[in-house]
Amino acid sequence: MFSKILIANRGEIACRVIATARRLGIRTVAVYSVADAGAKHVAMADEAFLIGPAPVADSYLRGDVIIGCALKSGAEAIHPGYGFLAENPGFVRAVEKAGLVFIGPPADAIEAMGLKDAAKERMQQAGVPIVPGYHGDNQDPAFLDGQADRIGYPVLIKARAGGGGRGMRRVEDPADFRTSLESAQREAEASFGDPVCLIERYIPRPRHIEMQVFGDTHGNVIHLFERDCSLQRRHQKVIEEAPAPGMTAGVRDAMGRAAIEAARAIGYSGAGTVEFIADGSGPLRSDGFWFMEMNTRLQVEHPVSEAITGLDFVELQLRVAAGEPLPVSQDTVSINGWSFEARVYAEDVRRGFLPATGTVTHLSSPDGAEFEKGALRIDSGIRQGDVISSHYDPMIAKVIVHGPTRTAALNMLTRALGRHRVGGTLTNLAFLSALSAHEGFASGEVDTDLIARDTDLLTRAGQPDEVVISLAALASLGLIGAAERKGADPVPEHSPRFGWHFGWRHWSPAYHKTTVAFADEQFDRTVWIEGHNRFSVVADDGVQVIETVYVRGDVMVTSGGHRMPFHLNRQGSSIDIWQDGACFSFRVPDPTQGDTGDTHAAHLITAPMPGTVTTIDAADGVGVSAGERLLVLEAMKMEHALSAPRDAVIRKVLVMAGEQVQEGAVLIKLEPDDE
Ligand code: ADP
Ligand code: ADP
Ligand code: MG
Repeated sequence: MFSKILIANRGEIACRVIATARRLGIRTVAVYSVADAGAKHVAMADEAFLIGPAPVADSYLRGDVIIGCALKSGAEAIHPGYGFLAENPGFVRAVEKAGLVFIGPPADAIEAMGLKDAAKERMQQAGVPIVPGYHGDNQDPAFLDGQADRIGYPVLIKARAGGGGRGMRRVEDPADFRTSLESAQREAEASFGDPVCLIERYIPRPRHIEMQVFGDTHGNVIHLFERDCSLQRRHQKVIEEAPAPGMTAGVRDAMGRAAIEAARAIGYSGAGTVEFIADGSGPLRSDGFWFMEMNTRLQVEHPVSEAITGLDFVELQLRVAAGEPLPVSQDTVSINGWSFEARVYAEDVRRGFLPATGTVTHLSSPDGAEFEKGALRIDSGIRQGDVISSHYDPMIAKVIVHGPTRTAALNMLTRALGRHRVGGTLTNLAFLSALSAHEGFASGEVDTDLIARDTDLLTRAGQPDEVVISLAALASLGLIGAAERKGADPVPEHSPRFGWHFGWRHWSPAYHKTTVAFADEQFDRTVWIEGHNRFSVVADDGVQVIETVYVRGDVMVTSGGHRMPFHLNRQGSSIDIWQDGACFSFRVPDPTQGDTGDTHAAHLITAPMPGTVTTIDAADGVGVSAGERLLVLEAMKMEHALSAPRDAVIRKVLVMAGEQVQEGAVLIKLEPDDE
């Protein structure tokens, strides 16, 4: 076994690898960019090397620099994590050439699966069922159009070099094929430097079921059962589980054998995942799944398989890389219970799930003591005070639960998500909570379109209700909200602002007017102090009577006969209120700043995030209708179309194609609305 390894990654996966290495007594070397100098993975490692500036191309993708650090530190092997250099055969060869061990599969195996078209060809030859489609070299749009007709609609256009759901377009209508192809090719070129696309039949009611495989250098290849990753948004996994709902021993066996076949065909060793698309229109069938691709690395969602098998996959990876045979065989592994993983991201769910950034000013994870031992696991590379920048994947944490049954595990997931509080950046926690409580999901009727079908329902949780708005109003007046005052009475005994006790009305008015803003909406409220910790919050159309009491840092709120826990945090003019994992961020508008919400900006189209303008559809002086695409911004390797918010005339386009823009930069000015 190695005595020292270098981890060529950052964030949660670097931390996760370090944890196992430490348990095995292996010393660890981290690498970091300038932006990550204070990051958790650096703090966790025994030593660390600065490898360059924040952009990944100058740091985490600098294979040569990283290999240099490994040699300097005396590390014997490099663990790539996932992403970055994990699936780069050139890097693997360079590592080996330097006399180091790559903790992962052989370069040839990575190469064989690197491009989806060649991989499908190879798998077809190995007798693994593949999705019907066209995966040849001819990229002539007219030819591909014809292929799509032959395959039959709906079809899926995929970048052969694709990953992370990027460079993919589903086409329902043949009339849209050319535009979708162009857009997929553009995104593929921008993300992967390779515009070549393949066309696949879009499988109806698709379920994404993948097999975990493990091989060693002694000719053993086993599978460690399946994961269902059907809960996806834009082809990206959101919640994963193991085993798969509705899986039978027969289908599992067939899928397991196909996965082992796939791995054997390319001389695989180490951890890998063979992804299948399964027909979910009825019960799973042994002839109802097809190979999509193989991920030749540790997968983001590997913890759910670790939970049900009781194995540590990083330990297995290290053993295999060190030349040991797999310590388990197909006959000795079995499934115990059920596991879910939810990916918590800094995202603006209300604005189409755009990646969000910010400093995590508040972070409290669910208390492990509330769960049975081993039932809750949180993998995270982020601590309170850390910055989520636009340079890297905006993942905050993976919340993983393990229970005896699917229902038990799902209930734990809902509970764990509800106890996760993140402040300072927007997150998808409310969305995840809503998803974990979704009826169809609960009954195991999962398919990759579930989220898209119910997006409205799943994202509505982001709207504060009257009670939440009332709490914000109370917090804006300083009447409640000091989350730090654990166990304390939320009302100061001697408040200089409101007289010596709120219940008394001698020296101060019995009511206060206040305004709080949420997103671009403002709420005017009048607060009456009714008694000790008892308030009436009056809106134009009704009154909320609110009673509060502090319990272990949460504020228990009784309103309309319903007692519920909330968590509050006020910093300056911002007020964060958490309820069931959802965080509602309010502002107290500053009247002296003419702060009237975002309405003054209604005629400006601004960049929702830093990025590059790739396409401009708008032109000065031209009329556009609501919803019409004005330009395309490429950010975080994805294309984001910005559309007209209303019928309008373009006053001025302020950017050029190819231009880099900062978040908030004004891109287009519209003529003001006449009304
Ligand atoms: P997995 O297949 O391991 O579950 P995904 O399919 O979500 O992971 O992502 C595939 C790869 O793309 C991973 O290696 C991951 O690191 C990378 N990736 C996913 N999302 C992003 C992102 N927003 N920015 C950069 N890389 C990403
Ligand atoms: P990536 O490399 O981005 O992970 P995949 O080929 O694995 O690309 O596909 C990503 C997702 O797209 C899958 O998990 C699945 O939800 C969906 N998908 C892929 N191929 C098909 C298909 N032929 N029919 C229906 N859905 C598909
Ligand atoms: Mg995939």
